[in-house]
Amino acid sequence: MKPSILVCGTGLVGLAAAVGLARAGLSVTLLGPRRDLPVFGPDTYCPRVYAISAASRSLLQELGVWGALDARRIVPVQAMDIAGDASGRVALDAWQGARDELAWILESTALERVLQHAVPMVGVTWVNESFESLRAGQVRTSAGHVFTPDLLVGADGAASPVRTAAGISHSARPYGYSGVVTHLNCSLPHQGTAFQWFTGDAVLALLPMPDTAQGPQVSMVWSMPQSRAQELMALPPEARAAWLEPGLRAVTEGCLGELSVRSGVHAFPLSLERSGMALPGVALVGDAAHRVHPLAGQGLNLGLGDVQALIDCVAGRQSWRSPGDERVMARYRRARAEPVMRMALATDALHRLFMIDAPPVVMARNLGMACVNRLPFVKRLLIQGAAGSGLLRP
Ligand SMILES: Cc1cc2nc3c(=O)[nH]c(=O)nc-3n(C[C@H](O)[C@H](O)[C@H](O)COP(=O)(O)OP(=O)(O)OC[C@H]3O[C@@H](n4cnc5c(N)ncnc54)[C@H](O)[C@@H]3O)c2cc1C
Repeated sequence: MKPSILVCGTGLVGLAAAVGLARAGLSVTLLGPRRDLPVFGPDTYCPRVYAISAASRSLLQELGVWGALDARRIVPVQAMDIAGDASGRVALDAWQGARDELAWILESTALERVLQHAVPMVGVTWVNESFESLRAGQVRTSAGHVFTPDLLVGADGAASPVRTAAGISHSARPYGYSGVVTHLNCSLPHQGTAFQWFTGDAVLALLPMPDTAQGPQVSMVWSMPQSRAQELMALPPEARAAWLEPGLRAVTEGCLGELSVRSGVHAFPLSLERSGMALPGVALVGDAAHRVHPLAGQGLNLGLGDVQALIDCVAGRQSWRSPGDERVMARYRRARAEPVMRMALATDALHRLFMIDAPPVVMARNLGMACVNRLPFVKRLLIQGAAGSGLLRP
């Protein structure tokens, strides 16, 4: 009999884990609610978009879902323009790293839909119930069904009931910040460039999106103090645009022309979270395992990196070992320790660095950016980093 794996959580990371592990020849059951996904017309877009790194794209290609995405709704990012809070600026172009693209912007629901379709195609059984408890290796669902998997994969998001039930260590530090997201019309073309501005106590990112009948558009992620985001979200929807647009104009200084809100505005609280990743019989992936500041746009990429590592460790184990064997789990933990730590430290350090408003620090960080901008080999390293594990947004 094939070893059995139970993947708990049906977000993007859980779906990718279920499909990937099944393609690696394991018997996989997926446990979690099946979301009915909204269908967007030609000129409307999912509010949540992701900057997908080259490493994540390769995984999605291996899972057989990348080619099923509508290419007209994916935007390749050819350049990044990062501005400090004084004169500092770093401009990265894909050609400087001998690449055609730095990343790809795609809609969350589009990816979720193709992954949902792939689940039955690779023989995964989807149990549309919730994880309830874990006792002595037995998982009980909300409907009272019982599973005894060789490996339980917790892909159940930041609050992860699997992590709590398994007793895997976890630490969380709220930033006191929120990521405010919406889509914007712009009167000038974005030319496949992702923009980012560090403005003291906030970080504004504008990601290129497909052109619409009204002209070019970008997707906004504005990380701002929670109190400011709450003030914005307390306004009636029509007043939010009047709140956002003057601020956008001031920060972007017209580099994308006039910016106007074209969709709903949503806010997500930000936190830095880390966990022990795995214990014998249980592995965590995605936000269940870690959460990082979105200024590098890498949370999902980190989660897909977990999926790739878990597939490698489970598929590469000695045949007599169970997928949840202590050694296999230790290997998985080691494989993810460095990439997760690097991303958590890099995003946290950048966030803290730009929070300091002492003039010498402001001068030093902007000078540092200006230096990086003049050093082609450093730029090449940054581009390689962003493509592989991902360091910068996108
Ligand atoms: C503002 C913002 C912008 C971001 N931008 C980017 C970006 O550009 N690029 C990027 O890579 N990342 C980005 N991220 C991070 C990214 O959104 C997350 O890392 C990613 O969505 C995590 O996916 P997940 O599947 O691990 O978790 P989730 O999407 O939270 O999925 C968890 C799943 O578990 C299910 N579940 C929960 N409890 C149970 C239970 N008891 N039983 C069964 N199922 C359960 C839920 O229903 C859900 O389906 C951003 C984050 C924020 C806040």
